[in-house]
Amino acid sequence: MSCIFCRIARREVESTVVYEDDRVIAFDDVAPQAKVHVLVCPKEHVTSLAHLRDDQEPLAASLLLAVRRVAERKQIANSGYRLISNVGEHGGQEVLHLHLHVVGGQPVGRMLAARGGLG
Ligand code: AMP
Ligand code: ZN
Repeated sequence: MSCIFCRIARREVESTVVYEDDRVIAFDDVAPQAKVHVLVCPKEHVTSLAHLRDDQEPLAASLLLAVRRVAERKQIANSGYRLISNVGEHGGQEVLHLHLHVVGGQPVGRMLAARGGLG
């Protein structure tokens, strides 16, 4: 299986891991759009939020709690941050493995997409 985030989760591809537990891995984005830009992913392959199943509720909860822990570790919990998940074609999703972008460490304005703007 060649999914890049599956390979990162299996530690076959290098990344800077910020947080990890049984279900979730979070690592620095390779092309950060702000001082802090972390991707929070399920370790098992889920294509996008649109593919998260009803029986994956524990995984959904783990992803959100991981966001909070990432923010604490990156010391942006108090200053704030933006949470983004691009879904599918109209959402501009490029990597087809569910991930939550945690973007902060500086004001992120009205930025809507993790790559900035609507383009
Ligand atoms: P999206 O457009 O929401 O699918 O975002 C994909 C994100 O994955 C982009 O912000 C990329 O910079 C990031 N990315 C792609 N490959 C890697 C990698 N090997 N390690 C870390 N981040 C990556
Ligand atoms: Zn995957």
